[in-house]
Amino acid sequence: MKSFELHDARTVDEAVGLLDKLGPTAKVVGGGSDLVDGLMKDWIQGKGLPLPAFLVDITTIPQLTGINATPQGATIGAATTLSAIVESQPLRQGWPVLGEAAQAVASPLIRNFGTLGGNLNQRPRCWYFRGEKFDCYKKGGDFCFAVTGDNRYHAVIGGELCYMVHPSDTAVALLALGARARIAGPGGQREVAFDDYFVGPRTDVLRENVLKPNELLSEVTISPLAANTKTAWIKLKDRQVYDFAQVSVAAVVTSEGGAWKDGRIVLGGVSPVPYRAKVVEDALKGKDIKATIRQAAAAIRTVARPMSLNAYKVDIAQGLIERAVLQALA
Ligand SMILES: Cc1cc2nc3c(=O)[nH]c(=O)nc-3n(C[C@H](O)[C@H](O)[C@H](O)COP(=O)(O)OP(=O)(O)OC[C@H]3O[C@@H](n4cnc5c(N)ncnc54)[C@H](O)[C@@H]3O)c2cc1C
Ligand code: SF4
Repeated sequence: MKSFELHDARTVDEAVGLLDKLGPTAKVVGGGSDLVDGLMKDWIQGKGLPLPAFLVDITTIPQLTGINATPQGATIGAATTLSAIVESQPLRQGWPVLGEAAQAVASPLIRNFGTLGGNLNQRPRCWYFRGEKFDCYKKGGDFCFAVTGDNRYHAVIGGELCYMVHPSDTAVALLALGARARIAGPGGQREVAFDDYFVGPRTDVLRENVLKPNELLSEVTISPLAANTKTAWIKLKDRQVYDFAQVSVAAVVTSEGGAWKDGRIVLGGVSPVPYRAKVVEDALKGKDIKATIRQAAAAIRTVARPMSLNAYKVDIAQGLIERAVLQALA
């Protein structure tokens, strides 16, 4: 592994100041399970992806660790571990879908030191991206190897130039909850809804979110669920021990007399960004959910563009959407 300089930041301002001063080869590190134990160990680099020379540790910033969840809403520091989220009773009560998604991440060992910020900002799991010899678009190269290669785990919706799928389970739940990201940068703090946080390849193939090199995610905030709202989480994976999602669904459903009043259905494992299935939500609007969900879930087919080896994901997505919405109602 290439050597690097480690800086233990004590405050958010200090961390941002270091990122700003040290430039684009300085990276924020949380638990390091992806950045250090994955990307840097495996020498994943390219013209558009230089190996980091400086790491700014944010787990040493007390302000960024912890959960404050009350009936008025929840705030979660970006350096909070996934295990702390899984074990938080107030979060479980107020926003159950988030704890379920966090529990679906990797193994207990990784959840014990992997952070929420690291989970949301982890880099793609595409096996060509992770392979040293493949200089693809996402590393600054001029080809996507998934187009002609083995694309069984790649995108079926919204792929363009790059066909990676966003790997984060918690991102799917937070988008379904309509949560917001607080971002710290040299100019102060700004808030961005998760609807606008993730960036697809058409916007910028070299990154997956709106963060600038001198910014970091400091907190996540979630509003209370509306009355008569229930949630559900389902993740289908290849290996049952632990694995990334082939397809996952987070459903947040507000109903009135069995009819769809409001809500969000978000899919993981299908698109370069966590994908909000508005086409299904629209088909449910005002309708009796149980009577309509099968037909509404089929609307996902109208936006899917599978590749040579992954049409099976569209069938799974349709089935899981139906199951998740009914599970939320139950
Ligand atoms: C074997 C294995 C299985 C896995 N399975 C799953 C799975 O099923 N589902 C899933 O969702 N994930 C899975 N993961 C990914 C895992 O959840 C992440 O590695 C972990 O959550 C990242 O947390 P971390 O704190 O260690 O991140 P780090 O490695 O510290 O950081 C990851 C990335 O995020 C950036 N970053 C970290 N914190 C911030 C911040 N606050 N602001 C801005 N950028 C930041 C870093 O610069 C880096 O690029 C798996 C990982 C492994 C190794
Ligand atoms: S899908 Fe994206 S990350 Fe994978 S090879 Fe293609 S450009 Fe690279």
